[in-house]
Amino acid sequence: MLQETTAGLFCSAGGFHVDPWAPVDRAVITHAHGDHARPGSQAYLCTPQTAVLLKRRFGPDIVVETLPCGEAVTLGDVRVSLHPAGHVLGSAQVRIEGHDGVWVVAGDYKRAADPTCTPFEPVRCDTFITESTFGLPIYRWDETAAIVADVMSWWNANRDAGKTSVIFCYTIGKAQRLIAEIGRVADRPLYVHGMLLGMIEAYREAGVALPEVKPVIDPPSLKLRRAGRDGRALAGELVLAPLSARGTPWMRRMGVHSDAFASGLMRVRGVRRQRAYDKGFVISDHADWPALLTTIAETGAPRVLATHGHAEALARHLASFGLDSGVIRTAWEGEPSGD
Ligand SMILES: [Zn+2]
Ligand SMILES: [Zn+2]
Repeated sequence: MLQETTAGLFCSAGGFHVDPWAPVDRAVITHAHGDHARPGSQAYLCTPQTAVLLKRRFGPDIVVETLPCGEAVTLGDVRVSLHPAGHVLGSAQVRIEGHDGVWVVAGDYKRAADPTCTPFEPVRCDTFITESTFGLPIYRWDETAAIVADVMSWWNANRDAGKTSVIFCYTIGKAQRLIAEIGRVADRPLYVHGMLLGMIEAYREAGVALPEVKPVIDPPSLKLRRAGRDGRALAGELVLAPLSARGTPWMRRMGVHSDAFASGLMRVRGVRRQRAYDKGFVISDHADWPALLTTIAETGAPRVLATHGHAEALARHLASFGLDSGVIRTAWEGEPSGD
């Protein structure tokens, strides 16, 4: 049903690629992260929510056909439908039904609750293509409420010490999830780096209710410019910023601060130390090891192909209990863009 090509997975019976990394005629997109949605394709097919995010990323003139979750279209000789993946707003698994049975390309997914997107729905299939970003037994996530409590106590301690709290996070998904989760328990609005505003707006445009945030104004207001000198305007506040802001002159506006990274990667102490964050919050938009295994079992698929991250380790594990398993290579062997 799907073949690996130089542009990524291709369905010849349907005449489309799934999450191609090069421009193609027709791209079916699981979600809006940069390692799944690339610019330049003639036409895109995705959920209406992902379409909102893609237009933000690629401009309003791209050709996008939307397909709400649960509805099916016929493309060539196959039936295609999208099903919630619970990863970020609009994220969907692609179900393809044709002469070769039913294939599901999950894209990135998670099983933890997320107030900013629709929960994952398992889909029965014959071949399941799973992500394996965190496909090692060391990756296990805590309950979100416990992580949020940890954020709050860190923030309070920093506030008592007169410091600004800065959390670095990914722009699509993690930022909005943190704003929603922290907003439930915080008694004051969060501040955000200007680069986060576009996607926060896009989430709101797609119907996600998010609490008020305050931009750290760019160019700096008089108040903040003075803060660059005395570092006090944001003292005690919590600021979310994209990773790209780290080490830039913008950071001077934070004054005396403590910094943190919110990512599944923070599960590995060596990574945290190497990148020299004061604090790591292990919160991920990907499935952890137990969730990967549960999900694979729930699909009932006798054949599972792993991709992204620790694909070989996961495929080996699946083979050890008798599943027909394999690996799909990707052009993106670096860090996940939205973990
Ligand atoms: Zn990904
Ligand atoms: Zn992703």
